[in-house]
Amino acid sequence: MSFPTRTNAIDFDSARLQRHGFMPTHSPAQPLDYEQLQRQLGLQLQTSLEADKILSIFFDQVQQLIPLDALRYKHLGTDLRLELGERARHGASYCMTHEGEQMGEVTFHRDRRFREQELTQLESLLTHLLYPLRNALLYRNASLSALRDPLTGAGNRIAMEQSLTREVEVARRQQQPLSVLMLDIDHFKVINDTHGHATGDAVLRAVTDTVKDRLRNIDQVFRFGGEEFLIVLTNTGRESAALVGERLRNAALRLTYPVNDRTVELTVSLGCSTLLPGESCDSMLRRADTALYAAKRQGRNRLEMAG
Ligand code: GH3
Ligand code: MG
Ligand code: MG
Repeated sequence: MSFPTRTNAIDFDSARLQRHGFMPTHSPAQPLDYEQLQRQLGLQLQTSLEADKILSIFFDQVQQLIPLDALRYKHLGTDLRLELGERARHGASYCMTHEGEQMGEVTFHRDRRFREQELTQLESLLTHLLYPLRNALLYRNASLSALRDPLTGAGNRIAMEQSLTREVEVARRQQQPLSVLMLDIDHFKVINDTHGHATGDAVLRAVTDTVKDRLRNIDQVFRFGGEEFLIVLTNTGRESAALVGERLRNAALRLTYPVNDRTVELTVSLGCSTLLPGESCDSMLRRADTALYAAKRQGRNRLEMAG
């Protein structure tokens, strides 16, 4: 099903001018309500630095003037997607930018067609969202980069520790299975030695992207060490984890990274363990590492399951 959706661009600088009254403002139907809402929005939107909270406040507040069924937002740069309310037939979509920087796309939905005047008001109200949203995105970016490996964009060791502690807790509480895969690139030193360190770095990025592409949204990838990654498979038992492991091994085989008319071919080895009742996180990791070591010993390009 496709929705009639208008797409528009809201530019930050014109928004600033408008806010300071240098540009003609739109004349809303209910001036008093509209102005009250503007004032209230300005105050409310300053109460949080969390992008999702800010968007949710905006969604609630705007509905005092313009009925809406849903708000959708996505910002690729910080991997933020938000869905509030129930999607409906008609949509109005806005891409927000600031000095060429993408600030995400917001779409409003509702069953009833938007009137031209409502759209004008929505656009004007959106300008109040821009500054708080920009701050929230900067904050989100800073928080994310503290937890990300800068080379590959995978989670770093700090993120890994936090996530594993949380995942083990959830697995115990909900009595769900939890599995991890330890993945190590085979003979990576040879790739570095043959093609140079920069190519080695590019291969590390390519492997990370390939792994991420093959996983569900809820699974997580962390850079454990140099050319070694830990993949955390939420609510996944031994058999399913083995399937995922094989899928990743095959994906790496098909990954050919071009360099100077030649292609770098690579293989990976994997060790897999599944959390045992009462087992500690460290013990589960140790068993995955031992399985990985066994995969290496048995010739590489293979997956070994921990006993
Ligand atoms: P094996 O199959 O036994 O895993 O062999 P290997 O060559 O992959 O393993 P080894 O541990 O001998 O070498 C890992 C290499 O990874 C050595 C190190 O220089 C390289 N390395 C670690 N971090 C980085 C990085 O960030 N970038 C690049 N380009 N190389 C890295
Ligand atoms: Mg290796
Ligand atoms: Mg290694």
